[in-house]
Amino acid sequence: MEKNGGTEPHFDIRIGNGYDVHVLAEGLPLNICGVRLESPSGCVAHSDGDVAIHALCDALLGSLALGDIGHYFPDTDDRWKGADSKILLGKTMELIREKGYRTGNVDITIALQAPKLAPHLNEMKKALAPILGVPETSVSIKATTSEGLGFVGRGEGVQAWATVLIYKTR
Ligand code: MG
Repeated sequence: MEKNGGTEPHFDIRIGNGYDVHVLAEGLPLNICGVRLESPSGCVAHSDGDVAIHALCDALLGSLALGDIGHYFPDTDDRWKGADSKILLGKTMELIREKGYRTGNVDITIALQAPKLAPHLNEMKKALAPILGVPETSVSIKATTSEGLGFVGRGEGVQAWATVLIYKTR
């Protein structure tokens, strides 16, 4: 049915992007997209250091111009010390839902020299989809190395980028 004389769109669509980087150090756990990976090194972080979820939270917050993850989950707050980043993502989704929006789809890219992420991508999608409230087919996770270049190539760090689309039906 047409509303407002048909001049208003039926969907309110918003887009957001997020970026995060973490230093890798020996002996620390490596968590990416909610999955604990076998690795000699993991992320230096206040929370569990899930670089991809942090980028995803920033993308969601960015889509509604709500600020960034550091504002909601500061690394000076002991509540988030060692926190499972899936909890941070759930709390971020609460903010999105409070504003009446739902997730359309997400697209994540992770740059990491090792270990290979390809065998774990399905498990990662399974971990994120229910928190986002979308089917796994709406969660894209892509992994790349940096061909040995730069800090990623030297195994000193990991980067992640996320793009999200959210929508509200009128
Ligand atoms: Mg982070």
